[in-house]
Amino acid sequence: MSRDQASNTATAYSTGGRFLADLTRRVAIATESQNPARRPDCWRYVREMKEDFAQLGFAGEILDNPDASGGPLLIARRHEADDLPTLLVYGHGDVVAGMEGAWSNGRDPWRVDVEGDRIYGRGTADNKGQHTIVMLALEAVLATRGALGFNTVALIETSEETGSAGLHRICTEHRAKLQADWLIASDGPRLARDRVTLDGGTRGTVDFDLVCDLRAGAHHSGNWGGLIANPAVILANAIASLVSATGRINVRGILPADIPPGVRAALGRIELEADNGGPALDPWWGEPGLTQSERVFGWTALEVLAMTAGTPQQPINAIPPRASARLQIRYTVDSDPASFMPTIRAYLDGNGFGNVAVVPKSTELDWGATRLDPEHPLMRWAAASVRKTTGIEPTILPNAGGSLPNDCFADILGIPTVWVPHSYSGCSQHAPDEHLLKPLVTEGLAVMAGLFWDLGADGGPDRYRV
Ligand SMILES: [Zn+2]
Repeated sequence: MSRDQASNTATAYSTGGRFLADLTRRVAIATESQNPARRPDCWRYVREMKEDFAQLGFAGEILDNPDASGGPLLIARRHEADDLPTLLVYGHGDVVAGMEGAWSNGRDPWRVDVEGDRIYGRGTADNKGQHTIVMLALEAVLATRGALGFNTVALIETSEETGSAGLHRICTEHRAKLQADWLIASDGPRLARDRVTLDGGTRGTVDFDLVCDLRAGAHHSGNWGGLIANPAVILANAIASLVSATGRINVRGILPADIPPGVRAALGRIELEADNGGPALDPWWGEPGLTQSERVFGWTALEVLAMTAGTPQQPINAIPPRASARLQIRYTVDSDPASFMPTIRAYLDGNGFGNVAVVPKSTELDWGATRLDPEHPLMRWAAASVRKTTGIEPTILPNAGGSLPNDCFADILGIPTVWVPHSYSGCSQHAPDEHLLKPLVTEGLAVMAGLFWDLGADGGPDRYRV
């Protein structure tokens, strides 16, 4: 009975075919959450997961989603002793559209297909393969030690790809069942493929429209051009007032006052590199004076996602009556999202854009920003465990650049969170040819088994409390 044995058992699940067998069954269930016709598949998924967790000694309960737009959820609990701490693990069983017919070599998105180091299939990376790694690592520790040494709660939802409908309510209403000392979960890509990444949180998002709506219809540009205002020109100028031609945000009121020193120090250890077919970085873009990792992990981004006026597919000789754009703010815990809309309204008014409306598009479903201090005992403990397994220092991100429903855990449940992603940026998540990399699966199984072994063996994160 040893840590090495648990980790060898876990990696043997990858090399021996067990991981692929579990993943194949899960990928075959077409759990598209944007497609209402696939709702029965989401039910089938949580029922099968309930059975699979039961094999590991979990008692499961399937919950219908309190939000009609969301799919069912599973809460499964494995209790060892009242005086032991509790771990929460999370995964999502739903996937984006399969995009049948668009995969190369005629691949079927609902069939796992191994080619070289790549394991193809819809949901392999996002998120079925990742929660399969977590479950098999728990199984490896159980097989080795006979017990985990902690209590475990597993939460599996089926609406993540549509914004985790109902998850805030489930976490509020079932708080007692979900209460835990820590969350350790897996989703998303590593920052660099040859090094484990530990994410302590997420950036939050706020979406809004800018709309310049001046009149009921279009008017001939020859008769009226130069006489009546053009909403497309006004909108373009309004956007240009908010953010410069080099990506500097001029509306300073939505920015954090500063980046906390501990976060700055952690980000200082990270060098961003263009990777795996991603676009080349534009070092001249964004906030001057910040490093590139500070720009994406420690700062606010203001982006235009879409904009339109007239009929771009078929322009006509007319001044359009209306122009609109969808903008998005990604922000860290260092700024207050409640101030964003009033700040932008006041800024536009002050710059002569009273005729541009600010229309909030966010709802209470939106995921807020979260962060775990890089010096938090959970992060220091997790980094030491990963180091012990891989021999390499993990990349520590106080928060990822993207978003997850992590505020449900960090804010509603109030527990510290660490995410250990097992995918990489070239995985074609949300596109045809989604895949996982075999070496990352094998290493991921060892890393997770190491974490779960240490959690039950060495007093866990409490040993790192200062
Ligand atoms: Zn996704």
